[in-house]
Amino acid sequence: MRIDVLTLFPQMFEGPMGESIVKIARDKGAFDLHTHDLRDWTHDFHRTVDDSPYGGGAGMVMKVEPLVKAITAITAMDGRTPHIVFMAPVGRPYQQSIAAQYTQHERLLLVCGRYEGFDERAFDWADDCLSIGDYVLAGGELPAMVVIESVVRLLPSVLGNECSVVEESFAAGNDGLLEHPQYTRPAVFEGRAVPEVLLSGNHGEIEKWRRAAALERTKQRRPDLLA
Ligand code: SAH
Repeated sequence: MRIDVLTLFPQMFEGPMGESIVKIARDKGAFDLHTHDLRDWTHDFHRTVDDSPYGGGAGMVMKVEPLVKAITAITAMDGRTPHIVFMAPVGRPYQQSIAAQYTQHERLLLVCGRYEGFDERAFDWADDCLSIGDYVLAGGELPAMVVIESVVRLLPSVLGNECSVVEESFAAGNDGLLEHPQYTRPAVFEGRAVPEVLLSGNHGEIEKWRRAAALERTKQRRPDLLA
């Protein structure tokens, strides 16, 4: 998979995209990451990417011309056509099933906003528009990194134990439920004992307990997932 990111802050990606699972995925060749500075597609002295909103009001709006120039140029950098995704609070809510679908694309182009967001006409170049939650961040870079990390850890060959992504929270293999509670040694810590069934070695009983605990926890914390 190839992932391109269009941003005003390419350097933000260097730390988070160079550690742990994402780094392993890159080293294994599961995906390559290409970040692009939007200002490279401006032609004026100040490399302007924003302007004041028509109709007045606070803040600045990202200009459509550099965005579309950049998207067109980045698309042409590789023979594969990218699935173009704009990050925006007005997008559809991002979730695990979308991450799973995105693993099927050979190429993604993630577009990060800043300021008050994009000139509405730029959305005509988007195949999808995603929000990572009902809150407003200063830019689309963290949302883009959320999408990248959640997608690449699902790519085949990235995580050693394939089961871990099948049975985790929100996964189809877990019926979209929250994951059951997990424990490791010691068996008792400050008077808190691990549920006995987990020490029993009886896999049938353990599975039953985990299923019931996952359902109970989902009912308590995320009843919306059960509906
Ligand atoms: N004025 C906009 C918010 C702009 S925030 C509004 O009220 O909807 C600036 C940029 O940050 C956005 O263009 C988007 O790229 C990014 N961003 C902020 N919050 C986000 C979220 N919850 N999900 C995805 N992107 C977000």
